[in-house]
Amino acid sequence: MSRRTVGPNPMNRGRFPIDPWALVETSYSPEDMGVTETLFAVANGYLGMRGNPEEGRPSYAHGTFVNGFHETWPIRHAEAAFGFARTGQTIVNAPDTKVLKLYIDDEPLTFGTADLEHYERRLDFRDGVLRRHLIWRTPSGKRVRIDSTRMVSMTQRHLAVMTLEVEVLTGDAPVVISSQILNRQDGMDEYRMPTQTAAAVDPRKAAVFADRVLQPRMSYATNERMLLGYQCAHSGMTLAVAADHVLETTDEHEVIARSDDDQAKVVFRVDATQGTTMRLTKGVAYHTSRGVPVRELADRCDRTLDRAKRHGVANYVADQRAWFADFWAGADVEIGGDTDQHRAVQQAVRFNLFSLAQATGRIDGLGVPAKGVTGSGYEGHFFWDTEIYVIPFLTYTNPEVARNALHFRSVMLPAARERAREMAESGAMFPWRTINGEEASAYYAAGSAQVHIDADIAYALMKYVRASGDEGFMVREGIDILVETARMWADLGFWRSNGEPTFHIHGVTGPDEYTTVVNNNLFTNVMARYNLEQAVTAIERIRDAYPDDYVRVAARLHLDPEEVEEWQRCADGMTIPYDEGLGIHPQDDYFLDREVWDLSQTPDELFPLLLHYHPLVIYRFQVLKQADVVLALFLQGERFTLEEKRADFEYYDPITTGDSTLSAVVQSVIAAEVGYHEAALNYFHQSLFVDLVNLHGNTVDGLHVASCGGVWSALAFGFGGLRDYRGRLSFDPRLPVTWDSLTFRLCWQGTRLLVELTETRIRVSVVAGDAEVPFTVRGIEYVVAPGAPVEVELLDQGERIDGLLGDRPIVGGQRADGSTITAGVPEPIHPPDELDGTGEIPITMMERSSLGPNVPQN
Ligand code: BGC
Repeated sequence: MSRRTVGPNPMNRGRFPIDPWALVETSYSPEDMGVTETLFAVANGYLGMRGNPEEGRPSYAHGTFVNGFHETWPIRHAEAAFGFARTGQTIVNAPDTKVLKLYIDDEPLTFGTADLEHYERRLDFRDGVLRRHLIWRTPSGKRVRIDSTRMVSMTQRHLAVMTLEVEVLTGDAPVVISSQILNRQDGMDEYRMPTQTAAAVDPRKAAVFADRVLQPRMSYATNERMLLGYQCAHSGMTLAVAADHVLETTDEHEVIARSDDDQAKVVFRVDATQGTTMRLTKGVAYHTSRGVPVRELADRCDRTLDRAKRHGVANYVADQRAWFADFWAGADVEIGGDTDQHRAVQQAVRFNLFSLAQATGRIDGLGVPAKGVTGSGYEGHFFWDTEIYVIPFLTYTNPEVARNALHFRSVMLPAARERAREMAESGAMFPWRTINGEEASAYYAAGSAQVHIDADIAYALMKYVRASGDEGFMVREGIDILVETARMWADLGFWRSNGEPTFHIHGVTGPDEYTTVVNNNLFTNVMARYNLEQAVTAIERIRDAYPDDYVRVAARLHLDPEEVEEWQRCADGMTIPYDEGLGIHPQDDYFLDREVWDLSQTPDELFPLLLHYHPLVIYRFQVLKQADVVLALFLQGERFTLEEKRADFEYYDPITTGDSTLSAVVQSVIAAEVGYHEAALNYFHQSLFVDLVNLHGNTVDGLHVASCGGVWSALAFGFGGLRDYRGRLSFDPRLPVTWDSLTFRLCWQGTRLLVELTETRIRVSVVAGDAEVPFTVRGIEYVVAPGAPVEVELLDQGERIDGLLGDRPIVGGQRADGSTITAGVPEPIHPPDELDGTGEIPITMMERSSLGPNVPQN
């Protein structure tokens, strides 16, 4: 449904001017502090720092996150049952090193009250450096220039570097800079304010941890270096964080260092003279571990910082620029057109791609949390978001990182096997949400029941192996995932015979969390079929191409040739629901039995539905949180005809709320394919600006990383018409009417390709590598080789159907039993603002356990 119509340039340009290579803010506002903290975060996938001001206040939510660094807690179910998730896992707010407080004439710089003659913040997509420039007129009437930078290094994963430059422009003044490391996870900050400030704003985040999380193990501060070290009370994870300083000034100064359990600080007192610039450089190192003693992590911090000192900060900035140059060479997408609207789209596209770099660049052996490392939303958990929304982008732009993310799933395989046993299944069942490999989803209906995650992982793996040609990875570890997931499906499903035997999968939830625990969810079945087939193909391939490895693989996995044959039978017999009368694929066996929720009659303020209706109310209707059948049409597109895709899209689109940000990108891809070009562009804009304009109202909790990945998918697969069915590249483009061109890059089996699309032609060229790459354009075969680009004339951009589908559902259709499908709306008894005394929305159907902290909808 296109409830939100979003144009190509929806940002407030008075405050956020268009810049194709940066996000820029030209005036400070406390109104959307939480949102801008998220948007101006700097991160490298391992370490993330929200865009909190150097001065430490004001702030919506201070945040420094280390991917995977979490505390555990016992989930207390009001009514427990066997196999329910037991251990909650929550990312910890790591000690804050961003703090560089500034006092001039003993007056603190504090936004909100400070008289700022000039303010600018700029996050540069070409080097990942956040720069702030201020001219402050102090209460005593002096003008002071303050320039600061903050960067989390892509080349040195554990390192972040900050600089602060102060120049008193008029007069002399005592200047004090207090550089700190502050534990904000526990207790009070230095102003005796609750440090989890978000708690005061949003009751959904209250009572995060009743007890102290970070147990102090070490702290010191000297003029040269300061350090805090901790161990989490329950998970036992350890962390050390240290900081070094270099002050450059010709003015007189002294340095004072102090530390206690929760704070270390080095204070620089400078007798500043007019026009003399003082420059403080702060290098910080974070090291974390599952349990290595803090003392050892402290040594690692020392090594990182010693090296940083030798190398010099300026060099790290240069290294970072080179890293990003590489990133953009592989990942940039250019939108052609010379109006502000095109430039606005270009900037937002780059912001999304840049955010993906920041979410994944240095995950190394870790997963990608739903919010990256920009916020505590979804508790820092890994979901299917990684495999379906992020890995495709990585596979085509930065395959090394894709492999890292997949390797992480192999590391989780033992826990997934254990979980399968607990769930009375063979093979492996990956957790719906997790940090440490254990299922952390307390609400099983919308969580653990989403068994499709097994097939999603298999899907991402196959795409990666085919696009990269990395069969070594498949032989070494990928095959274990494929076999164990295939075993799970073969065991979870069952045969039913009514003449012809058919294979069924019951009691699962598809991607759409507004319909749960169903039989034969189409998405699940289609993806499980793919998983089973690919396991068979991969086994055959290893047997034929790598016979020695095959022996090892067969022994390692106790492979029985008969089970491989059985997987093929399960795939062939898979039930794929189809309703002849309506000519559509029902989402599951009983989906059409329900009446339709008429979204056109639902007031805007009742979205997202999950915050206004009990799950059971929602479950009674045909209504979707996010694309489900439509996602299957994309991921398994070769198994459906264009007519089927159009019919399904037209049926599901008006009943899809898009309450999850994982939806719009998928709707965009399929809308483009079936011809709804205006709808495709509108859904694309919804995804493109989801955080930049805070369209879902929860950007404060962190970026929607899956949507960022989906933006790339919408560009490459949607408008670019790229597909890679069975390991063959193909294009069937759908350039938006308003764009002059679309240019994107792809890495195919080590060869880097440039794809340039205009209304009348598509041109594919090799930009790096020396292999030939075969591909098709609308069914015709071509081969591109280095120095020999291929240019293909296009007669059109596919059939174009104008307009949006709107939110009026298709009703009046007859079910197989002869009854007619009708539409209605459940009336909420209480208007939303009366639901509780505070005007805040109580959490309803989101996953949440009694102790579970913040749970924004994604
Ligand atoms: C969506 C899921 C998604 C999760 C984390 C939920 O709101 O429904 O599909 O995995 O958010 O992003």
